[in-house]
Amino acid sequence: MAVSAPALHHALLDIAGAAHVLRDPGALVPYAVDGMVPSAVVRPGAADEVSRVLALATAEKLAVVPRGAGTGLGLGNPPRRLDLVLELGRLTAVRDYVPEDMVATVEAGLTLGALAAQLASHRQMLALDPPGGEPRTIGGVLAAHASGPRRFRYGTGRDLLLGARFVQADGTITWGGAKVVKSVTGYDVPKLLVGSLGTLGVLVEATLRLHPMPPESRSWQLGFSSAEAARDFLAALLDSPLQPDRVALLDVGALRAVGLTPDPIALLVSISSVAEAVQAQGGTLAQLAAGHGGRRDLLAESIWSGLGPAVAGSILLRAAFEPRRLLDWAAQARSLAARVGAEIALLGQPGHGVLQVSLEAEDGGRLGREMLLPLRQAIEAEGGSLVVERGPARLKSECEAWGSINLDLLTIMKRIKGEFDPGDVLSPGRFVGGL
Ligand SMILES: Cc1cc2nc3c(=O)[nH]c(=O)nc-3n(C[C@H](O)[C@H](O)[C@H](O)COP(=O)(O)OP(=O)(O)OC[C@H]3O[C@@H](n4cnc5c(N)ncnc54)[C@H](O)[C@@H]3O)c2cc1C
Repeated sequence: MAVSAPALHHALLDIAGAAHVLRDPGALVPYAVDGMVPSAVVRPGAADEVSRVLALATAEKLAVVPRGAGTGLGLGNPPRRLDLVLELGRLTAVRDYVPEDMVATVEAGLTLGALAAQLASHRQMLALDPPGGEPRTIGGVLAAHASGPRRFRYGTGRDLLLGARFVQADGTITWGGAKVVKSVTGYDVPKLLVGSLGTLGVLVEATLRLHPMPPESRSWQLGFSSAEAARDFLAALLDSPLQPDRVALLDVGALRAVGLTPDPIALLVSISSVAEAVQAQGGTLAQLAAGHGGRRDLLAESIWSGLGPAVAGSILLRAAFEPRRLLDWAAQARSLAARVGAEIALLGQPGHGVLQVSLEAEDGGRLGREMLLPLRQAIEAEGGSLVVERGPARLKSECEAWGSINLDLLTIMKRIKGEFDPGDVLSPGRFVGGL
């Protein structure tokens, strides 16, 4: 039989302590997920407290959503049920950092900013940079499979996560993976958690591959008056011996949002290496841009951590497709947005064909029917995808946050979810296919 609400409250207090359990209705509102307010928020201070909370949730058939900094909770379907929010913000320790091996093991609630500060003294970095990422937690970034312009050179969380400690729905604490870059024998289970949105387990610790911070880095805005000029330049850039480490595409809306010169379309490019190489490559880059009618402005390096406002609209879509189609889909998104009267800002990652479409619209229903669905249909027809990364719950329900799903894969995913979380405790309903 289920325990009563007061008994449950007592059990949570017993695990995390009075200061770390919220039950006051007013205090719970900011922790709502897609408008669904939990009955309690619990902030465990250690992995074994996470384990006890989840064991309790499994015993009582409660639905739990893990939370890092709470910046990406718009991603995914609205939850089917929600009882507890499990906030990981107290798990902030750096457990092990071996600069010579370029590996660090950290707790999942540590923010990217706090980790960067600790690594800076050894001139090392975790090459994961979702825009505005400093306050976000390692656990949230991994669970959301978030990435940014550095993905171009260093890959994503799946490439940078070597091992993880995670807590299963029944409270079992498991370590998997490796502490070295040379990888692991058997199925790489921790990487399955990357992008699983907290539906398979709660990450409590991650062992991460680090990279040396380049000695010198310079960044430029290359502004173009037309998409055609930008497209030709981009093709030439990617085909050249130049080795940019970050390339981002911004339309006029995104440039305005981050306070840059509002060219019709621009590429932000950074080159990082030893000083002579940066200077030489910067010169070649200027020539290449000029050859395509582009204007080059030097930017402050802080631009890369200041891209958040470009994608801060109340609705955020993420499209993925073949990289060469980036400018075509950008143009299509702009014309569809104009038709429904939505304000738009575009942030693209040309190296791997990702386009974030940030929107403000009076009528979300019309935007869904007349923009989102036609754009998704066209992109899916070419083998790509379009996900609602953030948006009102109604829009996500009407348009299915994740888009179409391959049924064979969905069958496998259902089995995996059933194996990890048979009681449907972890973020029920939020993932692909309503898992
Ligand atoms: C302005 C803005 C710009 C953004 N730009 C980008 C971008 O360019 N690229 C990109 O990829 N993303 C982007 N995002 C999304 C964001 O970077 C990610 O969603 C972010 O990593 C979330 O981190 P968080 O700590 O806030 O996690 P939360 O938002 O708290 O959680 C994110 C997800 O992870 C789950 N979760 C959290 N912690 C854990 C854990 N320890 N174990 C298991 N599951 C967990 C949560 O249940 C949730 O589903 C942007 C977000 C904003 C607000």
